[in-house]
Amino acid sequence: MILLGSSILNEMRDYALEQMPKEACGLLYGRRSSNRWMVEQFQQVNNIAAIPEHTFELDPAVWIPASFSPRLIGIMHSHPTTVPIPSTIDKKQLQQFGGCFPLYFILSCMNNDNSLPLDLRAYTIIRDSNLTYDFHPAQFQLV
Ligand SMILES: [Zn+2]
Repeated sequence: MILLGSSILNEMRDYALEQMPKEACGLLYGRRSSNRWMVEQFQQVNNIAAIPEHTFELDPAVWIPASFSPRLIGIMHSHPTTVPIPSTIDKKQLQQFGGCFPLYFILSCMNNDNSLPLDLRAYTIIRDSNLTYDFHPAQFQLV
């Protein structure tokens, strides 16, 4: 189970909408308590991808130092116009950093007219029998 502060969800949503039509990305910090992950902080990171409308790449000036933090537990990015399901490119990119943290969030901005909640999905990063990293759908609870 993942516990996510509703204020953190709001920060992610505001940032994702602000970055439209580009994909927004960021890092999540927190801790593990018994079998629960607690997401305590969101950090915006510039998306420096060549085609930021369809993919994301974390600014290394932020990502490299952050990758050493013991509090780093996950990553988020937005899908401006598509469902919150990892794309083929997402899975390919995951191989580069899949071992760095356990949680992966995708926020879909398809319903961005404010009348509907944006669709956030959580995944845990697993390593399958072929030693490739993959996504496993996970439950989260807003607190
Ligand atoms: Zn994606």
